[in-house]
Amino acid sequence: MKNLGFIGLGIMGRPMVMNLLKAGFSVTVYNRTADKMKEAINAGARTANSPQQVAEQADIIITIVTDSPDVNQVITGKKGVLNGISGGKIVIDMSTISPAVTQKLARELSAKGAHMLDAPVSGGDSGAKAGTLAIMVGGEEKVFKACLPVFEAMGKTITYVGGHGMGQTVKLCNQILVSVTNLAVCEAITLARKSGVDPHVMIQATSGGAAGSWQLENLGPKMADRDFAPGFMIELQQKDLKLALEAARTQNIPVPALGLVHQLFMGCQAAGEGREGTQALIKSIERLAAIQ
Ligand code: NAP
Repeated sequence: MKNLGFIGLGIMGRPMVMNLLKAGFSVTVYNRTADKMKEAINAGARTANSPQQVAEQADIIITIVTDSPDVNQVITGKKGVLNGISGGKIVIDMSTISPAVTQKLARELSAKGAHMLDAPVSGGDSGAKAGTLAIMVGGEEKVFKACLPVFEAMGKTITYVGGHGMGQTVKLCNQILVSVTNLAVCEAITLARKSGVDPHVMIQATSGGAAGSWQLENLGPKMADRDFAPGFMIELQQKDLKLALEAARTQNIPVPALGLVHQLFMGCQAAGEGREGTQALIKSIERLAAIQ
C-alpha cells in the first residue's frame, strides 16, 4: 500500500486523517500548529517537520488548508512540497481554492514529473467525521483511478469531473447551490415565525416535498433554535463565494442570486458575525424586516 502524507489538520483535516488511518493507510502528517497533530499521532500517524519532509516520505501527498495563497505557500514556499517531491508522486489538494491557482500548481508539479489532482469536498465536518464526504476530482483520469482507494476512505460520492481545476469549478457550483438555498430557508423561516407559525412545524411540513434540501433539514432547525455555532463559518463561505463570483466574471456569466447572498453575508460580517455558522444569514433578513 502507498505511503500517504497529509498537510493541514484543521476542522476537516483531522477527521479525514483518522479515517485514512482506520482504513489501514500509513500516514505522515504535518500541521503548522503542532498540537493539532496529537490525535493522529495517538492513532499511529508519523510526523514530519515541514511540507517538504512530507513530500520526501510519502507517495501521495494530501493538502487541505485554508485558501489559494496557503496552498501555494505549502507547495511552492520555503520547505514546501515542491522541494521534496520527485517523479511519479501525486499531490491531492482537497482545499477549496481558485481553479486558476490549481492549474498553475499542476503545471509546476508536472515540471518535476509529479501529478496533481484537485479534489475539494462537500459535506462539512460531520461528513468528514462520518467518511461520507462528496469529493469532486479534477486532473488526469488515470491518476484519479490510482487514488480511488484513498478517496473511498474519506468519502461516499466520489466523482471524476474533468481536467485540472475542474474539481474546483464544480465545488464553486456546489457553493452557489448551497448559499442560494440557504437564503431561501432564511426567508421562509422568517415569514413563518412572523406569521405565527412554529418554524419547526414549517420545516417538518415542507421537507418531504419538492422544497426539501440539506440546508432546510440541517440549517433550518438551527435557525429556529437560534443556534449560530459554526459548522461552516461565514468567513470561509465568503472566501468561496468570492471565488465563485470571480469564476463567473471570467466566464461573463451574471450570477445575481449569488451576488445578493454575498452582500447579505457581508452584512453579517459587518455586524461581527463572520465567525458564526452560515445559518446566521437569517439575521441579515431579520435586520431588513426590523425583527429583533
Ligand atoms: P481550518 O479548521 O481553519 O483549518 C485550516 C488548516 O489549514 C489548519 O490546519 C491550518 O494550520 C492550515 N493552514 C492555513 N494556512 C496555512 C499556511 N499558510 N501554511 C500551512 N498551513 C496552513 O479550516 P477547515 O474548515 O478545515 O477548512 C479547510 C479547507 O476545507 C478550506 O479550503 C475550506 O474552504 C474547505 N472546506 C471546509 C468545510 C467545513 O465545513 N469546514 C467544508 C468543505 C470544505 P494551523 O492549524 O496552523 O492554523
